[in-house]
Amino acid sequence: MNEDDNVQRIGMRGGGDPSMKWIRSCVFSFALLVAGVAPAQELALVNARVYPDPQAAPIENATVLMRDGRIVELGTSVALPDGVAVIDAEGGTVTAGFWNSHAHTLPLPLREADTRTSAELGFALRQLFTRWGFTTVFDIASFPSDNAATLRRRIAAGEMAGPALLTVGMPFFPADGTPSYVEDMLDGMGAPSAEVATDREARERARRQLEGGSDGVKLFIGAIVDEGRRVQVMDTAIARAVVDATHAAGKPAFAHPTTREGIEVALASGVDVLAHTTPTDGPWSPALAQRLVDAGVALTPTLALFEVEVRKERAPEEVVARISGMAQQQLRIFHESGGQVLFGTDVGYIDLPDTRRELELMAGAGMDWRAILASLTTAPVQRFGHSARKGRVEVGMDADLVVLARDPARDPTAFSDVRHTIRAGEVIHSAHPNAAPEPGHGNAANDERR
Ligand SMILES: [Zn+2]
Repeated sequence: MNEDDNVQRIGMRGGGDPSMKWIRSCVFSFALLVAGVAPAQELALVNARVYPDPQAAPIENATVLMRDGRIVELGTSVALPDGVAVIDAEGGTVTAGFWNSHAHTLPLPLREADTRTSAELGFALRQLFTRWGFTTVFDIASFPSDNAATLRRRIAAGEMAGPALLTVGMPFFPADGTPSYVEDMLDGMGAPSAEVATDREARERARRQLEGGSDGVKLFIGAIVDEGRRVQVMDTAIARAVVDATHAAGKPAFAHPTTREGIEVALASGVDVLAHTTPTDGPWSPALAQRLVDAGVALTPTLALFEVEVRKERAPEEVVARISGMAQQQLRIFHESGGQVLFGTDVGYIDLPDTRRELELMAGAGMDWRAILASLTTAPVQRFGHSARKGRVEVGMDADLVVLARDPARDPTAFSDVRHTIRAGEVIHSAHPNAAPEPGHGNAANDERR
């Protein structure tokens, strides 16, 4: 391990005994890299190319000074206070912290948030989320019903580093519509049924969950059942009852549409976010895309998901390419029609934390790097009501930042090349070359198969 390098990259500024400086740096770095949480209340990021928002020109050679979780100074001539912890961005690109607007806390150990150690949970949160730059994650369906809330409480209590977590809790399935691919897991957990058979039952459960702290709801409007042979579509009156209760609470409703018929039910019931495209059900016409845009529906494309799923069925690569191309067509026409795209990967359901493929596919569907940055930052904060505090690098905003090794303006896959993730002024991930070896290899989803 090269300590000099360590001090240089992540160090403390200030006078005094150089050996003390070295020791403090090592203590800081140790705390940072082992616990994953920086203790400093004041943090400076120097030598950065800052993109304040998706439309702004970059600020070269910028310093971002953070205090008590907020950005307090930003510019090229910021004086550093004595003793401030400093991260050298080494010319890397800095953007606002990313949002993953479609994820799950289903893999072990995350779905056992009440019993697992903070080290286990912290490791998994890093592998799935923070090492890819996510400072906020919307969990859109989890079991048991209060699991994500427990995880959120433990992160907030400082037990481990992690993203800000929003959750819908348990999703709503149609009657006889528990998806085949979750049946076994739910049986194994002894989870209660998440099916709703009447609009009254649906409304009451929605109210209960929202009053209990859920940040939205998720409707399986098109549920894939019978081992993938059939799609059970939710009754429009039931979907509308859930959405109305959700809007009355000022919160968003996500839907898994699966088919064109599912999209129609989503439109008729006033859903806010389509959680996927529908690539197994033909292309989207300009007219359909326009109807979605006019209805104010946002989209998480989850393009890489379809490649993963089709390959899981051992389909030939030409089928993989056809389905994936269809998903891209749908994103392309939606984006060209002015639709609001929210970056989302379905990680936690699929075992693919790396965001690189999703970025490649989004770029291939015609989204330029600015549009992709918007899907990671300004679009979700606007959609979910956090624009006043998040989504841009600006004085007064929450100090949620990502330091990228490369400039995404040259190649959008640079959004997956994350050096540091900072949330509320604390470093919650650092891909530092001197980082202590992480416990084990692979990702959290693999760990559950031990
Ligand atoms: Zn999902």
